[in-house]
Amino acid sequence: MLDLVIQNGRIIDGTGNPWFFGDIGVKDGTIVEVGRVQQKGRQRIDACGQVIAPGFIDGHCHSDLMILDHPHSEIKLQQGVTTEVIGNCGLAPAPFFREHGELLRSYVEPVLGKTDWDWPWETVGQYMDYVKQHHPSDNLATYVAHGALRIAVMGFADRPASPKEIEGMKKLLEEGLKDGAIGLSIGLLYAPGSYTSKEELAELCTVLTKYNGLLSTHIRGEGNNLLPSVREVIWIAEKSGVPLHISHLKAAGRRNWGQVMDAMNLIDDARARGFDVTCDVYPYDAGSTMLTTLLPPWVLEGGIKEVIPFGKVSEKAWIPPTLTHVRTVSVTNPTNRMMP
Ligand SMILES: [Zn+2]
Repeated sequence: MLDLVIQNGRIIDGTGNPWFFGDIGVKDGTIVEVGRVQQKGRQRIDACGQVIAPGFIDGHCHSDLMILDHPHSEIKLQQGVTTEVIGNCGLAPAPFFREHGELLRSYVEPVLGKTDWDWPWETVGQYMDYVKQHHPSDNLATYVAHGALRIAVMGFADRPASPKEIEGMKKLLEEGLKDGAIGLSIGLLYAPGSYTSKEELAELCTVLTKYNGLLSTHIRGEGNNLLPSVREVIWIAEKSGVPLHISHLKAAGRRNWGQVMDAMNLIDDARARGFDVTCDVYPYDAGSTMLTTLLPPWVLEGGIKEVIPFGKVSEKAWIPPTLTHVRTVSVTNPTNRMMP
């Protein structure tokens, strides 16, 4: 006797095979039969010709904090997603140390969502344990997020990390990987990721090789500087010898449309040289990010709260912000990262 039989489904087995009509038999939490299941099941579900498929993996999520408020993850499960990958784009709520705690919160909350409760963890491992205590309905895997590492070690300092600071970040990264994180995510569009050189990142990535870790990247620019940004992360991966994933590859801004083909050529070339480089795209033609990404990176030195209420308009001048000022610094931003 089986525990569960799902009958009359359109089965897509996830191997690339075409779909076929059939049943699924489950015993002790494992699929033991696929096809025409003759055995009886304690429970029987008639799928009425609907699709039966393995759960989907959502490889790019920002549910790091939402999963704690909504551990049942109904919005994911209703879409067939049973595994989420979090800690993307250099943004994650751990490691979280009191000294730079407010900086980290103001850095991640525009994307991960606001929380009005105290975060009781420090390390990535403690954060993962805390999530487990909430019994999330779906499976979760996380990256260690570079932005969180840099804030933990050096706040929002707009300068290269010292050798001692790099060692500090490497130690925290290694701790996270030992605790089960799947790699490192970097968000070079966002300060303080944007303050980081490719050499500094390549050095940090050497830790990944010991743990088979993946480097996942929100690249420095997805607009006018798309191609140099793709070249940069390929350089980091090749230099440190780690597999690379480029998240949500796109060419933002009308004048850049079509450049994704050139970006794909760069990826193909790296693969032809023997490097493991992959990318993903949104299943829609829109994107969302923080308004602060329109500002040149130096405006954000010291943290998000430093931008308000003063509004820096040059390296030296501080005057109250107006929309005109923000537009001025955005349009004159040499990297012109996201402007249409
Ligand atoms: Zn991103």
